[in-house]
Amino acid sequence: MDFSLSEEQLMIQQAAKDFAQSELMPGVIERDDSQTFPDELVRKMGELGFMGMMVNEKYGGSGLDTQAYVLAMEELSKVDASASVMVSVNNSLVCWGLETYGSEEQKQKYLTRLASGEIIGAFCLSEPEAGSDATSQKTTAIDKGDHYLLNGTKNWITNGGRAEVFLVIAQTHADKGHHGINALIVEKGTPGFEIGPKENKLGIRGSDTHSLLFNDVIVPKENRIGADGFGFKFAMKTLAGGRIGIAAQALGIAAGAYELALQYSKQRKAFGTEISNHQAIAFKLADMHTKIQAARLLVYQAASDKDNGNDYTLSGAMAKLYASDVAMETTVEAVQIHGGNGFVKDYHVERLMRDAKITQIYEGTSEIQKIVISRSIIKD
Ligand SMILES: Cc1cc2nc3c(=O)[nH]c(=O)nc-3n(C[C@H](O)[C@H](O)[C@H](O)COP(=O)(O)OP(=O)(O)OC[C@H]3O[C@@H](n4cnc5c(N)ncnc54)[C@H](O)[C@@H]3O)c2cc1C
Repeated sequence: MDFSLSEEQLMIQQAAKDFAQSELMPGVIERDDSQTFPDELVRKMGELGFMGMMVNEKYGGSGLDTQAYVLAMEELSKVDASASVMVSVNNSLVCWGLETYGSEEQKQKYLTRLASGEIIGAFCLSEPEAGSDATSQKTTAIDKGDHYLLNGTKNWITNGGRAEVFLVIAQTHADKGHHGINALIVEKGTPGFEIGPKENKLGIRGSDTHSLLFNDVIVPKENRIGADGFGFKFAMKTLAGGRIGIAAQALGIAAGAYELALQYSKQRKAFGTEISNHQAIAFKLADMHTKIQAARLLVYQAASDKDNGNDYTLSGAMAKLYASDVAMETTVEAVQIHGGNGFVKDYHVERLMRDAKITQIYEGTSEIQKIVISRSIIKD
């Protein structure tokens, strides 16, 4: 297995690192406090090609591979996981789904603008009573001949207040269970489509998360993605790739916290020496470094599977499960290494600890990843 990076991949990694340090770091604490993220920064991420990294250049994307994408995700997430979740949802869940399964008309109309970052998108699967059990969709899309009539509520939608294009999963043929589900493209501003208030969150507070309400929303038939009843498969396929992005986000959060802790431990003195000279601290750093590298290899393995046309359901689930646990453990230890300073905002690690938690929850909780992994290994 060769994970050496190409010149292009190294360039993307450096570009993401530079952008994170020069553009995301200033104001990151204030954005977390105020739960905001300026449009200007989203625009810049689009200009640099971060919003449609894997999309073919003919549709306005950067035409890069998954490996380049995870490298960028890691670097952005070291500094600001709120920025990287916007990037992840737009790339993995919205652009990938449209490019892979959308019609040519849908790609021309929506993908080109999404991939260039001119507009951003949202992926709408979760509902008040359908989270891990995504088959229990209560949102309905009734077939009315030339259009669907959409009714229902979606919960926890990332980019909910900012997106212009929403991929909405809804039940059309209840008698067919999950084979009766469709994925529809819904535009912001369509009559009957309302955006609920912003959620007040523990972490990734710069990212806007909203409920969405659909009340007799008319969606043209040509906005359905794929064949009638393809919606659930669309969602599962899309999420399988999305997990690689979230695994890379978790890796970045862990690596960011580790780098801060390492630096701090070499400066802070206690009992007449730098705290890194106390074995209890040095061993924490050794564990963090080892686990982060193991997580990185799992993320690279999953990216490589996707880039090489291999099945990445198992490797993506393992990468997300492990990297998100490492993110949680590492950020807790980074706070510990910072002592009292770890508990205040100026040192960044408390924010990284709060941001880490979501990586064990969204795009399939850790328990759901274990279901995916165990099913895959038992069936073999
Ligand atoms: C900040 C944020 C952003 C999000 N962004 C999006 C988005 O953009 N689009 C979107 O569609 N959704 C999004 N989500 C929703 C997210 O994917 C769900 O919250 C997640 O899938 C879990 O669903 P739930 O909250 O309903 O929890 P539940 O499904 O109710 O789970 C509760 C607990 O039970 C466990 N559990 C459930 N079933 C099983 C089982 N069979 N075996 C063992 N344990 C089980 C879970 O692991 C969890 O610990 C977001 C959520 C948050 C918090």
